[in-house]
Amino acid sequence: MPGRLVLRAIRPSRALTVACLALSFLGGCQLFPTRPMRATDGLDTSTAVTGEPVALPGKNSLRRSQFVFYADFPFQQNSLLLDDLCDLREQLRDELKLPDGNSVIQVFIFENKAKYERYMQARYPELPRRRAFFIAQPQSRGGSDDLLVYTFWGDNIRQDLRHELTHAILHSVHKDVPLWLDEGLAEFFELPPDRDGINPTHLDQLRNPNLAADLDRLEKTSQIQKVMKDRSDYREAWAWVHLMLRSKPEARMVLLDYLRELRSTPNAGLIATRLRSVYPAENEALRQHLSRIDSGRVSRGQSPGK
Ligand SMILES: [Zn+2]
Repeated sequence: MPGRLVLRAIRPSRALTVACLALSFLGGCQLFPTRPMRATDGLDTSTAVTGEPVALPGKNSLRRSQFVFYADFPFQQNSLLLDDLCDLREQLRDELKLPDGNSVIQVFIFENKAKYERYMQARYPELPRRRAFFIAQPQSRGGSDDLLVYTFWGDNIRQDLRHELTHAILHSVHKDVPLWLDEGLAEFFELPPDRDGINPTHLDQLRNPNLAADLDRLEKTSQIQKVMKDRSDYREAWAWVHLMLRSKPEARMVLLDYLRELRSTPNAGLIATRLRSVYPAENEALRQHLSRIDSGRVSRGQSPGK
């Protein structure tokens, strides 16, 4: 399952913003703080990747929409995937009322996991092992960040790219998105459109009578710690986003208004207080919303990422 990672200036000498990574190896996304990464960030950095560093893929390139794809194999023939990713951009614009973002998002697709890992280990040794990364990298001459996505060709390519490109598209129009919200939106949109944002695995695990969802906690934790260590936080982030986008119009407007404010101010406050104008008991509203979702409708579909 993909996730996201936002690193801000891993090292002062190499300012770097990593906005997300797909979580195939650990099953969770992480947001990294503005300090050198340590094992205490909850990341698996123990397994060294051996072998000679490899170059970025670039024998084949293709510009589609806001994206430029690079690969060393003829990926252009995967027209359905490319169409899906271009549609993702339109889906985000329509659903979230995002303005046009014309920043180019560079997508590097390694032909296999081994080459991808060797490259990432050499280029970004601070990063944990993950299936994919989004990195917003400040340019040395200033201006807007370079928006970079790295991954490899594999069974999860569609889901991983949808997840990372959701982060990239958001970051192309927002300088800062709260971590929990960035992840919740990526978890929602990583699924094919016919899933309508429903993640059956998340749903199964959240449909617990003892569910202790708490948006206040989620917002404050991600705001203060800048790290989401627990996989359950990603599920809960997805659930709150699903509630706001798929329960009733007033809840959706809370999210859209919040995103619009974030485009003009990095400090739009907490969304929980706004959501209470729609759902005074928001935790109970979430529980009821999850119970009403028809997971059977999506369980008959194709697995995500295939
Ligand atoms: Zn993510």
